[in-house]
Amino acid sequence: MAVSLRPDHELHDFQVPKALFRQANLINGNWIGVDAGRAIEVSNPATGGLIGLVPETDREGVRAAIEAAHASFRSWRKTLAGERAQLLKRIHASVMQHQEPLARLLTLEQGKPLSEARAEIAYAASYFEWFAEEARRTYGELIPTQRADRRMLVIKEPVGVTATITPWNFPSAMLARKIAPALAAGCTVVSKPAEATPFSALALGAIAQEAGLPPGVWNIVTGVPAEIGSELCGSPLVRKLSFTGSTQTGKLIMRQCSETLKRLSLELGGNAPFVVFESADIDAAVRGAIASKYRNAGQTCVCVNRFLVHDRVHDEFAEKLVHASKALRLGEGLDDQTEVGPLINDDAVAKVMRHVRDACERGGEVACGGELDSRGGTFFLPTVIVGAKPEMVLAQEETFGPVAAIFRFKTETEAVALANDTRSGLAAYFYSRDLSQIWRVAEQIEAGMVGINEAMISSEVIPFGGVKESGFGREGGSRGIDDYMHTKYLCLGGIG
Ligand code: ADP
Repeated sequence: MAVSLRPDHELHDFQVPKALFRQANLINGNWIGVDAGRAIEVSNPATGGLIGLVPETDREGVRAAIEAAHASFRSWRKTLAGERAQLLKRIHASVMQHQEPLARLLTLEQGKPLSEARAEIAYAASYFEWFAEEARRTYGELIPTQRADRRMLVIKEPVGVTATITPWNFPSAMLARKIAPALAAGCTVVSKPAEATPFSALALGAIAQEAGLPPGVWNIVTGVPAEIGSELCGSPLVRKLSFTGSTQTGKLIMRQCSETLKRLSLELGGNAPFVVFESADIDAAVRGAIASKYRNAGQTCVCVNRFLVHDRVHDEFAEKLVHASKALRLGEGLDDQTEVGPLINDDAVAKVMRHVRDACERGGEVACGGELDSRGGTFFLPTVIVGAKPEMVLAQEETFGPVAAIFRFKTETEAVALANDTRSGLAAYFYSRDLSQIWRVAEQIEAGMVGINEAMISSEVIPFGGVKESGFGREGGSRGIDDYMHTKYLCLGGIG
């Protein structure tokens, strides 16, 4: 939409300082605001109220950002690992120092409960600390020589200009886990945050700049996704693209990047199974189910999408899950009592409703919830559906909402087959106290990450990523930085 310049909101009422509330893009160290040009309105999913505006950058703006990243790569790649580590540590400290206003800003634009937003900011900060440490450990190798006059070595180098495209469900953490390893490796970056949640990304940009990141090393642009995406994917100057988002957009990006054969990391949608075996501790399984299913109102890529429960413990698990689901407090994220916030927008509500309706038409039964809360809008009640079947849409597509669908099974073989009956393979969970079953199932399940008697599995120290159509590449952990580095072989001859 076209708008004229609007006064800078300071978000005083929400205790977000102006320095962290940037209605502008960061290009080559300059903040380019919304002048008389086009802008995107960002609104609060809980109230529908306007939070602020960000520029709808045109293709020229994206190219300027890429060129700034390309120019600054020459000097940034030469900085010492220790210098980059110090800078990342300063960013980590500053993010933690501003945890509260960053969390408020996150909740304002994303909707999640403040307690979850605070946890996300700490989680985002942890990537800066982790990769500050990893920056110093990008060791090469010396290969035992095959000829007396030769020495053979391997060194690691930054891949170059990196583009990041991130979603709205974890606007700070998903970005931090790309930015931190990229900067640690010596890459420069152009980031495109999601249009629903740009302010969290721009606030991190302001913090990085304040911490001393040189101009052009990290650029942030907002605008029409397909336009920015095609510029980033098509540019020969961009050597790597790291994307988190839907499988459909991931496939499009992969096709678009094929022309320039970019390195890719794709963290795409999941369809996580949560299997409760007969020997499981049912109370622990219910606690895990609540934590994983309703976090961020069911809008995480590792949220459980299908509960598979053994026939003999089915009724007990379902009853306890319904009881716990009904007890959850739904409300605005900024209210400290809230445990489940609103969905991101009306499209998300429509998708959840479509899944519930389809499940009912195919014989499923709503045990609780199943509709909008009495306050309406984007507030959907925590929902449990029993009698779920593989032919239902919710078994095949990620619902991305607070709907727990329960399937029944009788044998381990059947449970594993049901769990793997999806083209996705990001997270999977199962509860069992039978040690041989734990090994058997852990090895057979087709997922990049498996929670066994545990439903909260993410952390900066582990390799986060999927298999099958959930994508490839691993974020975090001891190998996370390798996704931003090339391996170069040097052969030194003529040694007398
Ligand atoms: P979701 O359904 O979760 O919004 P998307 O894959 O559409 O998932 O969004 C994830 C990120 O991908 C967002 O930053 C979004 O703006 C971006 N995106 C969407 N479409 C495109 C596209 N055609 N090219 C590049 N990025 C895109």
